[in-house]
Amino acid sequence: MISGRKAIIVGSGIAGMATSIRLAVQGFDVEVFEKNDVLGGKMYLIEKNGFYFDAGPSLFTQPQNLIELFEYAGETIGEYFNFSKVPIACKYFFESGVVVNAYTDKHDFAKELNEKLGEPEHNVIDYLDESARVYESVGNIFLNYSLRSASTWLHPRIFSAMKSVGLSHLFGTLNSFNQIRLKTKEAVQIFNRFATYNGSNPFKAPGMLSLIPHLEQNEGTFYPKGGMISIPNALERLARKKGVKFSLGKSVEKIVKGNDIVEGVEVGGIFHPADIVISNVDVYYTYKNLLGDINKANKVLKNERSSSALIFYWGINKTFPDLHLHNIFFSNDYKSEFEHLFEKKQFFHDPTIYINITSKMEEGQAPDGKENWFVMVNAPAMEGADWVKEVSEVRKNVIDKLSRIMGVDIASYIQEEEVLTPEGIQRRTDSYLGSLYGTSSNSKWAAFLRHANYTTAVKGLFFAGGSVHPGGGIPLCLKSAKIVSDLIKE
Ligand SMILES: Cc1cc2nc3c(=O)[nH]c(=O)nc-3n(C[C@H](O)[C@H](O)[C@H](O)COP(=O)(O)OP(=O)(O)OC[C@H]3O[C@@H](n4cnc5c(N)ncnc54)[C@H](O)[C@@H]3O)c2cc1C
Repeated sequence: MISGRKAIIVGSGIAGMATSIRLAVQGFDVEVFEKNDVLGGKMYLIEKNGFYFDAGPSLFTQPQNLIELFEYAGETIGEYFNFSKVPIACKYFFESGVVVNAYTDKHDFAKELNEKLGEPEHNVIDYLDESARVYESVGNIFLNYSLRSASTWLHPRIFSAMKSVGLSHLFGTLNSFNQIRLKTKEAVQIFNRFATYNGSNPFKAPGMLSLIPHLEQNEGTFYPKGGMISIPNALERLARKKGVKFSLGKSVEKIVKGNDIVEGVEVGGIFHPADIVISNVDVYYTYKNLLGDINKANKVLKNERSSSALIFYWGINKTFPDLHLHNIFFSNDYKSEFEHLFEKKQFFHDPTIYINITSKMEEGQAPDGKENWFVMVNAPAMEGADWVKEVSEVRKNVIDKLSRIMGVDIASYIQEEEVLTPEGIQRRTDSYLGSLYGTSSNSKWAAFLRHANYTTAVKGLFFAGGSVHPGGGIPLCLKSAKIVSDLIKE
């Protein structure tokens, strides 16, 4: 237990909040500076005339990261936050009219893929078993520990972990990995889609990303009661109980350092001393704006950015029994879609559309007889776009596609509307180009090129969040908070 030492955290995203709790438990005097007036970063709530929308993340996996955090703090999670497993991870819609339910029971899922697509059941079972095996061995080591720490590489399980990895995990793309293991093009497309979990391109990202389906299909997806916003709300209550101080509406202007040691931060021209500083903000922004180190900032950009998103929050004045909590309407030409997103840096005219509807899970999320649609398409990480033009074109393509596949005029049911662009995501959270997950995994070495959770150049400065190791998304952000607090404890 360290007492009397001051830790300052810049940003209250999920990783910033989780780090604040861990450091408070470790005995630090913790203060979080957040530039917005609410906590949670990319996780916030939009309310429009009785429709409630989770603005950012909508898919909740691996609740064990949160359970472990509450246990670490000596609290019972159920007193703060409740969640339940969802039997269908996602409903997939193809232009051909085929609809596939991705059951989280792997035998039901394999049967469904066989009945709807003609995919041999054993292909699906074998795939998910291999995904589990690689996740349990490799994933568990590389995602839970710092990659720059000798103890990670000397971990007793490292040799058996490396042995479980095949050449196609390392040297093939996710798409080629899937083509070897699956027969039908639709099943390949379903399993390719997991590259978008961290904003990557399945035609570039390594086969290693085939461990991601383990999370959704084997471990399952979960619905937090009250929606995703209940996660930052629960963390805020826990953090305050542990004595964390939150200063809202306070933008940090500078991380102050001596020669090679952190001294504190500057907020509104006032110096706040600290023994350690943790930046929860995009690491590119941290170097460029908070440390004034443009060379290091540009080095971060050598790794390709993850994709961003364009989201329409639609209050729909009708219910659609054929839709579920998570729904995906696939593009007919997935390869071209990713070429547009990552190479041409353009939206594709036939986008893959994701719709999340929490009113399917509980009352009160939308007025009676209506639904709250979170409608998202992948967006390129691009600069200087004419967002009015882009939004209007994407909106038309999305409405045309949904109306075509669902056989109704969707536009006529839109009662309320809000839009979030990549530029809006950047403005709100300082994530460069609105990237959802920091850097992409579009290269074999991406996992190793991600910025570490500390820097040897400035003692006492640490990084937690989606743009650093082990990566973006709620589960990995929670893991980054644990890695950082463990490094600090060491
Ligand atoms: C639309 C969308 C959909 C997503 N879908 C999913 C999903 O379904 N499942 C999933 O797991 N993940 C999803 N993600 C990704 C997930 O939201 C992020 O990986 C995660 O929330 C990032 O958390 P973070 O801790 O890195 O901090 P962030 O949420 O990026 O927060 C950083 C915080 O720092 C603050 N800040 C910035 N600059 C300063 C400053 N100078 N001073 C003080 N404060 C500052 C910001 O205001 C912000 O609050 C999605 C993201 C988006 C945007």
